Amino acid sequence: MRFIDESKLVGVLKKTEGASSKEAEDILGKALLLDGLGLEEAAVLLQMEDMELLEGLFTTAKKIKNEIYGKRLVFFAPLYISNYCSNNCLYCGFRKDNKEIVRRELSIEEIKTETRLILEQGHKRILLLSGEDENNFELIIQAIEAIYSVKDSKGSGIRRVNLEIAPLEKEQFGEINKAKIGTYTVFQETYHRETYRKMHPEGMKADYERRLNTMDMALESGLNDVGIGALFGLYDYKFEVLALLQHAKHLDTAYGIGPHTISVPRVKPANNAFASMNIPKPVSDIDFRKLVAVLRLAVPYTGIILSTREPMELRTELFNLGVSQISAGSKTSPGGYSREEWGQFSLNDTRSTGEVIKDVINRGFVPSFCTGCYRLGRVGKDFMDLAKPGLIKVHCLPNSLTTLQEYLEDYADAETKEKGEELIEKMMRYVPRERKKKTEEYLHKIRNGVRDLYF
Ligand code: SAM
Ligand code: SF4
Repeated sequence: MRFIDESKLVGVLKKTEGASSKEAEDILGKALLLDGLGLEEAAVLLQMEDMELLEGLFTTAKKIKNEIYGKRLVFFAPLYISNYCSNNCLYCGFRKDNKEIVRRELSIEEIKTETRLILEQGHKRILLLSGEDENNFELIIQAIEAIYSVKDSKGSGIRRVNLEIAPLEKEQFGEINKAKIGTYTVFQETYHRETYRKMHPEGMKADYERRLNTMDMALESGLNDVGIGALFGLYDYKFEVLALLQHAKHLDTAYGIGPHTISVPRVKPANNAFASMNIPKPVSDIDFRKLVAVLRLAVPYTGIILSTREPMELRTELFNLGVSQISAGSKTSPGGYSREEWGQFSLNDTRSTGEVIKDVINRGFVPSFCTGCYRLGRVGKDFMDLAKPGLIKVHCLPNSLTTLQEYLEDYADAETKEKGEELIEKMMRYVPRERKKKTEEYLHKIRNGVRDLYF
């Protein structure tokens, strides 16, 4: 199944090369209807270089982000369980030819310890990751169970485990489903076949089509929410954005649900990984902002995930432009929350979760630890049906406030607590009328020790 049509993407990029400002402005106007954009429209915006037009794009992205997501930012933390890997991706510190790193596979006890440390930072969502190792599937299943079993000193546990592991076989998806995961994510890394071949010279990952068809198999096997992504810097970013949109469109057409999330990692230096030091097609900060904004316009209801690969100032700008989920306080080595070690790649936002939360609150964003939709079965198509008419506001804003209140009670320092309380009070004005009373009641109960109240 060739749903990534390279010649079509190249053709669209060529055709839109000389697009006029008028065309771009019309597309920005259309994007405000929140119906998304077609390939050619997205390409016209990606071709824009003029700073005035780009400012128009950023303003439009901000409006859309605000209209659909408001000021919420959903938080999560990654948990690496193994850095053993049978692949040799040229950009990654875990590649099998890297003999300098210490290889580790965590025991169940170690996974529980890491989970406890993540919980003590206030997180409620974990993204479980691993190198590609044919023999660690059992460990992944046990790890999910172990993560859910842990309670921290406040009696709180992880409420949603998302997965970012190599493509699985059909029966394995069935098992993963039973283990109760949230979103299953695989990045295609690059959609450009020739570049893909060069970057993935051996191992299971060398098979482009196998990786590309993973999400089809996941959805056919009953998983509800899938995430896609491209590793920006390997090939032309404009091509990758259009390919992500083609992938999203394919899933939507075939299964009635587009991807739940799109991730936008940029290549960062990694130990003994040639392509991370000599990035083939570096993406500048301004192009990175452009591509996030174009994605926000093109697929307005798909979450955009940004990791701690990016520095603080840029992250803040990208929150405004469309990013809806972020990691904080991250470690990218197995056991990294317990001891310092070489991670998979270097990070640029190395602040603690508490520092990030304080900062985003000061900037008027509402940190959210909500897992309500997943736990109430509002997943897959149901989530999209909910998201599309803008009902996100009815559920998500109140849930962000109740989970923030929990955080303030259990994990925040005095200053964050004070600022957070002020923010909650301010944001209560935007809670829809029919939800106001109940939200106030929940907040009151949480202040008095009740936990885990959500809509
Ligand atoms: N090993 C599995 C796989 O490759 O599918 C699971 C995901 S891997 C642990 C997480 C992601 O890290 C990869 O998909 C890749 O996009 C990203 N990554 C690898 N090296 C990187 C680097 N040098 N800079 C930024 N991201 C990198
Ligand atoms: Fe292994 Fe994933 Fe790193 Fe590739 S990106 S070397 S598959 S951990």
